[in-house]
Amino acid sequence: MDPLMHLVFPLLFLLALRIEPKKALLFAPIAILPDFDALFGLHRALGHSFIPILVVPMILIAYSKFKKPEWLFGALLVQFYLASHVILDLGGVAFLWPIVPEQFYFEPGITFAASDGFDIGFTLDYGMRELSEMGTTSLLSDTGFALIFLGILTVAVFRKEAYEALKEAFRVFLDLLPRRGK
Ligand SMILES: [Zn+2]
Repeated sequence: MDPLMHLVFPLLFLLALRIEPKKALLFAPIAILPDFDALFGLHRALGHSFIPILVVPMILIAYSKFKKPEWLFGALLVQFYLASHVILDLGGVAFLWPIVPEQFYFEPGITFAASDGFDIGFTLDYGMRELSEMGTTSLLSDTGFALIFLGILTVAVFRKEAYEALKEAFRVFLDLLPRRGK
């Protein structure tokens, strides 16, 4: 899954639940952090393993709980965004790296065929495979472009609402600025 979708999907879920938009937006970039492991030639391993995805956020949550209760909500957002990344990458992640260097993949599917009557089938493919050397990776896949086109369509049809949302997003953004310096 490409970084844009890693950023957009969990954020949409949080906004749909009306989780504080300001905080949801502020922490959203954490959802793409795991993919920076590509820079170290260990894509889908170093940044996608249980250590950064579960252990680190759990320590942060525990620390917040006992020492900094005001951090707890942020720590939960960190955990949510990191976990969302691995869930969206379910097609192949070395989750137990470096203990188990192979990728685990899990690809469930439901098929539908209408050629000879109706036939609904379930497919499930899972297992382990070698961590592949990463050649070219997509920064933006076809689904990513589709998502952008969907966004453009949404804005074209709901111009007024889009304008209001943009104004609100800008207000939230301005709201964030002065806090930064402190
Ligand atoms: Zn990833």
